[in-house]
Amino acid sequence: MGLEAKLASDGFLTTKLDAVIAWCRKNSLWPMPMGISCCAIEMMSAVDPKYDMSRFGSEVMRFTPRQCDLIIVAGTVTYKMAHVVRRIYDQMPSPKWVIAMGACTSSGGMYRSYPVVQGIDQFLPVDVYTAGCPPRPENLLNALLELQKKIEGTRARDFQNKPLLDLNLSKN
Ligand code: SF4
Repeated sequence: MGLEAKLASDGFLTTKLDAVIAWCRKNSLWPMPMGISCCAIEMMSAVDPKYDMSRFGSEVMRFTPRQCDLIIVAGTVTYKMAHVVRRIYDQMPSPKWVIAMGACTSSGGMYRSYPVVQGIDQFLPVDVYTAGCPPRPENLLNALLELQKKIEGTRARDFQNKPLLDLNLSKN
């Protein structure tokens, strides 16, 4: 069997290329800081010189979703605000990832009340949840490392034709 035929049958070249792409992706996540309430203060701390999120290649926060591939949702999300968060997520190019930062974002937290969404996974495909009220900056960095591990195992074609999650907000 010739080299070309062997590469085509074994997929060697594709596998290596996937590994390089995944390595680049995981080390250059550009976060969209979706700071909605108190948790956002700790998110800001994570990029300061003390906690130094740039060690993991993610210090380039962007305030336009079209330049981001990671949205960090930090704060209490109301049903009214959920539509805005989802619109911003939809404007981000694929592949893209989601970190739910804090108890409110992950589960509604202490707000068991009608205007608060009981977890953003009702309308976003969350990749990593971060516990705490608020989570410390180290906890957000840990979430970022967990996300990097997840991205490391992906292949470029995993993101082709990925179905969009329905905007499942039954309250409104
Ligand atoms: S988890 Fe705590 S700190 Fe974070 S938004 Fe909710 S109340 Fe605020």
